[in-house]
Amino acid sequence: MTDKVAVVTGSNKGIGYGIVKELCSRGVSTVYLTARDVKRGQQSVENLKREGFKPEFHQLDVTDSKSVENFAKHLKQKHGGLDILINNAAIIQQNIMKTTYEEAKKVMDVNYRSMFIIEKYLFPILKQNARVINVSSDLGHISNLKNSYWINRLTKDDIEVQDIDDFVDWFLASIKNGTLKEEDFAVTAYLAYRMSKVAVCALTRVQYRKIDRNISINSLHPGFVKTDMTQHNGFMTVEQSGKTPVYLALDCDQSVKGKFIWYDKSENDWT
Ligand code: NDP
Repeated sequence: MTDKVAVVTGSNKGIGYGIVKELCSRGVSTVYLTARDVKRGQQSVENLKREGFKPEFHQLDVTDSKSVENFAKHLKQKHGGLDILINNAAIIQQNIMKTTYEEAKKVMDVNYRSMFIIEKYLFPILKQNARVINVSSDLGHISNLKNSYWINRLTKDDIEVQDIDDFVDWFLASIKNGTLKEEDFAVTAYLAYRMSKVAVCALTRVQYRKIDRNISINSLHPGFVKTDMTQHNGFMTVEQSGKTPVYLALDCDQSVKGKFIWYDKSENDWT
């Protein structure tokens, strides 16, 4: 039994569910399966209990400040803090080739901007040597972007949040104003989702430098996994996809920080 408190966002299904299951099977003493919808979350906890695992449940909508604040208070009161945080919750756009401004903004709000709500309420209760894993994607690699001005700003060593916010604002404005240029991107399918994951990888490079308490923060491409998001296409099951996030949470050396880790545990050069 490993005496740690772990939280996985968006874990009522898919990869998050697989991560909760793996954390439980590795003997982490307290594992929170969280979901924005209480019913869906509790049902998933029941399913795991039937398999002999004992996750806790708490409501958590990563875009809702009140929900994240309530959860932080609960964790602080009941456990004094948090050892493992896996930021997994995300959405993908339904309009594959041509997204609307409203849809692109929603994708950015859930996948990227929610990270600041998490940072505000959950980072202060992270314990010494805690570990944070930001689930990104291969679609979040910088090579998805072809605009050299933004590549330079996002890959510089002293990148700040302002650089990423400006990039996200530029991207959304270019959709809103109809000024988006295809040549600025390697591939235009799922573009808002891609750019939200580029932003998550870039943010990881800021977060790991700024955080104290010897906390390690890395981003991860979890592999191509059979989930609702991929319409159950993929080469990995959710159970298999839980292995590398849990390796990063429990086994990896604490000195690995600010990296972009691949599903096979290798380090991928993001810049
Ligand atoms: P799913 O769509 O299967 O699951 C997404 C989870 O996020 C669901 O539990 C969903 O809850 C939750 N969620 C969505 N919005 C919120 C919110 N506002 N607050 C809290 N939870 C929310 O996706 P996957 O399991 O496939 O994806 C998990 C992660 O892995 C994502 O970050 C995704 O981008 C990434 N990824 C996935 C790949 C794959 O091949 N599957 C490849 C690369 C990256 P609900 O049920 O309520 O909608």
